[in-house]
Amino acid sequence: MANANRDTDSLFQAILDRCPIGIAVIDYNGLYLTVNPAYCAIYGYTQQQMRGNSFKMIFPPADQQSILERHQRFLEFGGDLRGEWPVRKSDGTSLTVLSESVRFSPLGGKADRLVYVLDITDRKQAQEQMKIAAAVYESSHEAIVVTDADNKIISINPAFTTLTGYQFDEVKGCNPGEFKSGRHSSFFYSEMWRVLNETGLWIGEIWDHHKNGNDFLKALTITLIKDVKGNVIKHVGMFSDITLRKEHEEQIWRQANYDATTDLPNRHLFQQKLEQVARSIKRTERVMALMLIDIDNFKAVNDSMGHRAGDILLASLARRLFNALPEDGTLARIGGDEFAVIITCTNQPCKCENVAKNLLESLSNPFNIEDESVFVSASIGISIYPTDSENLEELFKNADQAMYSVKNSGRNGFSYYSPALHNAALVRMRTTNDLRVALREGQFEVYYQPIATLATGKIAKAEALVRWHHPTRGLVSPDEFIPLAEESGLIVPLGNWVACQAIDQLARWQQTYDANFKMSINLSPVQLRSQDFVDMTWVKELKRHGLLGNSVIVEITEGLLLNAENRVNENLHLLHQAGIQIAIDDFGTGYSSLAYLRKFNIDYLKIDRSFVADLDGVGYELCLAIIAMAHSLGVLVIAEGVETIQQSQTLARIGCDHIQGYLLSRPLPADDISRFLSGCSDVLVN
Ligand code: C2E
Ligand code: MG
Ligand code: MG
Repeated sequence: MANANRDTDSLFQAILDRCPIGIAVIDYNGLYLTVNPAYCAIYGYTQQQMRGNSFKMIFPPADQQSILERHQRFLEFGGDLRGEWPVRKSDGTSLTVLSESVRFSPLGGKADRLVYVLDITDRKQAQEQMKIAAAVYESSHEAIVVTDADNKIISINPAFTTLTGYQFDEVKGCNPGEFKSGRHSSFFYSEMWRVLNETGLWIGEIWDHHKNGNDFLKALTITLIKDVKGNVIKHVGMFSDITLRKEHEEQIWRQANYDATTDLPNRHLFQQKLEQVARSIKRTERVMALMLIDIDNFKAVNDSMGHRAGDILLASLARRLFNALPEDGTLARIGGDEFAVIITCTNQPCKCENVAKNLLESLSNPFNIEDESVFVSASIGISIYPTDSENLEELFKNADQAMYSVKNSGRNGFSYYSPALHNAALVRMRTTNDLRVALREGQFEVYYQPIATLATGKIAKAEALVRWHHPTRGLVSPDEFIPLAEESGLIVPLGNWVACQAIDQLARWQQTYDANFKMSINLSPVQLRSQDFVDMTWVKELKRHGLLGNSVIVEITEGLLLNAENRVNENLHLLHQAGIQIAIDDFGTGYSSLAYLRKFNIDYLKIDRSFVADLDGVGYELCLAIIAMAHSLGVLVIAEGVETIQQSQTLARIGCDHIQGYLLSRPLPADDISRFLSGCSDVLVN
């Protein structure tokens, strides 16, 4: 019997020692009677450290008293002490244990408590993680969809429903491929699967179908989940709807690359396109033509009709230019009234000549802007890559020079870049630089050319014509330097200087020759458009000499009056107020229109010398018509470039009022003209 007891004791001891569950016996006072190794291991103590000590040692100090009281109540009255408890290890770390207690009274005295304990800290933490994951899954704004090994949907989160419109019942067991929008190629999908299978991850943007029938763009991440053997068991797709963001990005991109007025690519995008085309033709036999298109006189429209009308005009002329281009051409707006074109061609000479003609032709009909007919034309410069230059910046410069040469030779045309143009541009640049010092260094002189009245044969007027004595080049023609002075703005001080000289001379001739003598002075459009004009320096000069306003005639060109801007109107009005008379120079070479003769109170027309030179041909009819028209409006006529007595006689016969030309005299220095005036009172033999 004693042996049997001993056997049972050692069996229990062996169970206690090896059992993986923590087991302890605690007496009424809370002292440990027995603790097994598993129990000690949970709390990090040795059996000696625990045995005989109070079980309070494993609880946080704040809980200890109430725990002891519950322990004693349990031993006295029974009840339930089963539960999860927060406890402390010997090193202070926190644990969660699950324990179950049993009362037993081995000797009939006060009961002891037998406790089984499991450390469930890890399980607890895992549960917490699961809870968090589930909350994220439920509340995420990103849609999440999980599919099984066969890619059939087994779970979706609420955001999936929000983003796609589909409830779980509707998509359960479906393949996500069923939402395809049809916007991607099959290659796109096969690539997606290849990357996903190779790397376990695919990130990209994909258009899918919404339940409402619309397509929407997803930013999608797909992850593979594999088992230990590496077999795919699940696919997790996470996505958000980026349709709006994409639209916004596209809008920003458009704003950065397109011109809002004309809807054409802007300079920035054009430059990129130019570089791209240049790269692509490098490997071929093709050439690329760069055309720069400058709208002639656009500023005048803008100034006279306002910017809104200017914008409308730009938009409609851009449309016409666009429609005149071949399909593979590129058109861009690269500046206020500057457009550029790229075309590529195979054969030399290339098709760009036709393209340029078509572009010009497309502008030939008037534009109807705010119920007014507006005429525009353009000047086009063409440079060929890589023939003219392999450097794109230089190509631009070349096309610009070519365009400039068109401007200079009367606008409304096109021209190819040539090395001669390049040299001419160099000369222009140097001449402009020289011009800047010419005024300061007194290199200019005013020449005068007499104008005779046909009815009396008397010299009644003279035209002031400026001359430049260039220190190395000798006499430079005004036809060469006036345009440069206009471009650089130097015409304003130069024009003033000429006028002051001419008025000074006029005062002298009125004293010595004829008190009614008149002086004709050329006024550049740039002067009339300039802000400084209101100062009218030389009108003050007239007063200083005590001269009447009507002893001066200003010569302006027809182009100025066509679409005349407000400032020009005002300045012409100022001249009128000062009594100064106005002549239209070179009449017949521009847009000759009756309307503005009436509108602007014109006093004289100067028939261009090309018509006078052609008096034996159609010039005769034209002169006849011009004179009749002018007289009907009370406008006097001066014929320019009269070189022969026959021309003079013909003009007298058809009623022309005045003549000017080599027949009387070439333009000469003031002294020569003074001698001429005093020597001849009646120069004309009728
Ligand atoms: P324009 O005002 O039409 O001047 C008449 C031009 O015709 C002058 O050329 C004159 O020398 C030339 N001419 C006169 N009679 C005859 C002739 O019988 N036969 C031929 N073949 N030519 C004749 P010029 O002096 O070389 O001046 C050229 C242009 O330069 C002028 O044309 C005018 O537009 C401009 N210009 C001259 N001086 C000034 C100035 O002070 N200010 C401005 N803004 N322009 C000026
Ligand atoms: Mg003139
Ligand atoms: Mg003239």
